Amino acid sequence: MKVLKFGGTSVGSAERIRHVAGLIRSRGRNIVVLSAMAGTTNTLVDIADYLSKGNVPGAQETLNNLNLKYLNVIDELFESETSRLRAKAVISERFSYIRALIDGDYSAADGREILAQGELMSTAMMDIYLNENGVRSVLLPALEYMRTDANGEPDMKYVATRLRRMLDLNRDADVFLTQGYICLNAVGEVDNLKRGGSDYSASIIGAVVDADEVEIWTDIDGMHNNDPRFVDNTSPVGELNFEEAAELAYFGAKILHPNCVLPAKLANIPVRLLNTLDPKAAGTVIYHMPPDGRIKAVAAKDNITAIKIKSGRMLLAYGFLHKVFETFEKYQTSIDMMATSEVGVSVTIDDESHLAALVDELKNFGTVTVDRDMTIVCVVGDLEWHNRGHAAQAVAALRDIPVRMISYGGSNYNVSMLIRKEDKIEALNRLSEALFS
Ligand code: ADP
Ligand code: ASP
Ligand code: MG
Repeated sequence: MKVLKFGGTSVGSAERIRHVAGLIRSRGRNIVVLSAMAGTTNTLVDIADYLSKGNVPGAQETLNNLNLKYLNVIDELFESETSRLRAKAVISERFSYIRALIDGDYSAADGREILAQGELMSTAMMDIYLNENGVRSVLLPALEYMRTDANGEPDMKYVATRLRRMLDLNRDADVFLTQGYICLNAVGEVDNLKRGGSDYSASIIGAVVDADEVEIWTDIDGMHNNDPRFVDNTSPVGELNFEEAAELAYFGAKILHPNCVLPAKLANIPVRLLNTLDPKAAGTVIYHMPPDGRIKAVAAKDNITAIKIKSGRMLLAYGFLHKVFETFEKYQTSIDMMATSEVGVSVTIDDESHLAALVDELKNFGTVTVDRDMTIVCVVGDLEWHNRGHAAQAVAALRDIPVRMISYGGSNYNVSMLIRKEDKIEALNRLSEALFS
């Protein structure tokens, strides 16, 4: 059994849903994870935002427009009036649910309930469509098995027990359908695995059912060697090991959710990235690939803040770094990149929620400088240090761009460089020219 995950664009219109239904049928008895239709989660986020600002009419108008869109999709998608009525009933139940939340006293928990509706709607429509076409699909409600613990991590034992029981109870199913992204949290409220989290759902599910493979179906033919949104003529990378894929996802390759690699890696399940628009394309396979000495791809992560703590007293001062890191721990802020010297340390963070307090406290240990709106560009591949020249090639490609920090040697898989956000596109293009042309 495999896990097949289809992203938002893959189910973004009646035509795309029909096409994906064909792919699902042709691939046999698998677990299919769906995202919300493209644009839906963004719209639901807008609605929650309006409500958090007390703008009820804004929320209502946005919801009404979304509702019309779904009614149009239903009209276009289904052949029979029975299916159409079934779909309209389910979708109208979801919209009524959101309307009731809009009319009530808004809370953050309501916001998360609103965000969860997109995946509930896409899976319901696909289920009805597959049924209309003679497929015995069984819906596995994610909120009945997907759950995170007090640390926000998936509760793998809970997920395994619940999900395996549900599969056992439905032995005559042709295919299983479930929602990506949504879950319950440790206190039993509706929650989610963060934006783009359907990939993570698929990998968690793959791990607990010991799937043969996790297939991530999206709108591009695999992981490209650079970000296709900013660089022309990028090309797909045929294979990656789990570590390389994790670095790329973490450092900004949007095709994969940053947490998606880990569950598959721990369970040793290959992850294949495939293109719904071109199903025959080879895509990318991620597995325990042996080292090949090659640079694979470049990615970039924006909204990075660099913090430098300079201390005249750092010379021979053991305990300095400990105090610095303890401060980041206290403010639950994780560090992405780091560079040290005799007189100071520079680190980067991507979460500014506690920046003011953090900086205030770090001033006890030295002089603090903050640079905001920075970008990490990250060159990923088999960069084991005996493989000569890779670091030099990456750094040389940025010779005309101001580089604030460089980090190499933390893993065997990346060289990261911190630059100004406005230099990102040029940096990515130069890296492509230097490394892949
Ligand atoms: P889905 O909705 O299917 O989850 P996403 O939009 O999350 O799809 O991810 C696919 C998109 O990721 C692509 O359309 C592409 O623009 C973007 N992307 C960014 N970096 C890469 C990369 N290195 N390789 C492929 N796609 C990338
Ligand atoms: N629908 C969610 C989002 O847009 C989850 C996903 O697409 O993976 O973030
Ligand atoms: Mg995605």
